[in-house]
Amino acid sequence: MSTRPVWAEISLSSLRANYRRLCQAAPPEIGLLPIVKANAYGHDARLCAPVLEAEGAQWLGVTGCEEGVRVRAVCPGPKILLMSGVWEGEAEAVIAHRLTPIVWEPYQLDLLEEAARQKGMGPASLPVHMEIDTGMARQGTSAHAEDASALRSLLPRFNAPSPLRLEGVMTHFSSPAALLSGAENAQLDRLAQALRRILESGHRPEWLHAGNSSTLVAGPDRARLLSLAIDAHLRLMLRPGLALYGYLDRFTCDGKRSFLENTAPPPEPVLTWKSRVTSLRTLRAGESAGYDATFIARRTTRLALLPAGYADGLNRLLSNRGHVLLRGEPAPIAGRISMDQSVVDVTEIPGVAIGDEAVLLGRQGDRSISAWEIAELTGTIPWEVLCSIGARVPRIAVE
Ligand SMILES: *Cc1c(COP(=O)(O)O)cnc(C)c1O
Repeated sequence: MSTRPVWAEISLSSLRANYRRLCQAAPPEIGLLPIVKANAYGHDARLCAPVLEAEGAQWLGVTGCEEGVRVRAVCPGPKILLMSGVWEGEAEAVIAHRLTPIVWEPYQLDLLEEAARQKGMGPASLPVHMEIDTGMARQGTSAHAEDASALRSLLPRFNAPSPLRLEGVMTHFSSPAALLSGAENAQLDRLAQALRRILESGHRPEWLHAGNSSTLVAGPDRARLLSLAIDAHLRLMLRPGLALYGYLDRFTCDGKRSFLENTAPPPEPVLTWKSRVTSLRTLRAGESAGYDATFIARRTTRLALLPAGYADGLNRLLSNRGHVLLRGEPAPIAGRISMDQSVVDVTEIPGVAIGDEAVLLGRQGDRSISAWEIAELTGTIPWEVLCSIGARVPRIAVE
């Protein structure tokens, strides 16, 4: 157990509330596939996935095979979607742990078929989902009309006596926010076209899934996705990630940045990153703090030491820019963040003492620091802020 006073509290009640809100935000015909990849966006999948299972989640989404195995160990019930394909040496674990892989490359089908045959599995006994590339150019088989040969040559691989069964068809949109901007949507058109081809070839998958948190909480185009699924006799699922953990995407709408607003109340941040003051000192005017002496005291200055640095995921770009919360007040980060430590200016906060709790991300009293705030100061997005909190920071479940 880590005794260093830096940790992240994971509010299981907030996660539960967020998941319930997202379920309510979707019409009953739409299923949810909550995403717990990247260790549940840094929130610890072993804490979060069982909460989602207990709330009735039928599916969970992970990235690699190892993540799938870790989640399966704590979640016996739900189907686990392996969203990054399969690589050599993984097909056996896919079968043993009942993972459902996304496939699009012929070699992935080879690996799975081979492993299934070795296990003596019968026809259509190993469910897989096929990804359609609707514009990300990352994973998936091309949906372009003039380049349908890849899709056409994949489809017969799911015919009897193949052990593989095409259980689902999915895509990942390059611009979920673009879905908001009306009926003209090339991503959806490409998906519709690929789906038509799949059905024409006689396959009858059960699931269609697409769309992330934004599609779920805001999407007027949910309706188009839903009618696409209903017309094809498929069940639709959306795959929320970020919103589960308490943040909503921002998108450009008529040139204006705004939050997606139509889940009332908005989701609650699940993670609070904390530390404690381990040392205090006073600088005289003119004295410096930290590497390269980038902080110079302009007056008598009280500094507090926190045992959290960039090796814990506290982005070094927050040096002399970010702040933490102490006694409910903002304490600016003074000087360069070190690998394992940082120093904050508490001159304006009377009474700070060794052992005081500091909040690096999340709420303390009336104030809070959001992942969006840190993302803007460090030139990134809240997804990365949350995933960057280091593995050596223990995640502690709280209600
Ligand atoms: C990460 C991911 C999501 C979730 O996206 P959010 O923006 O976090 O809601 C959905 N689908 C796929 C394929 C993903 O990789």
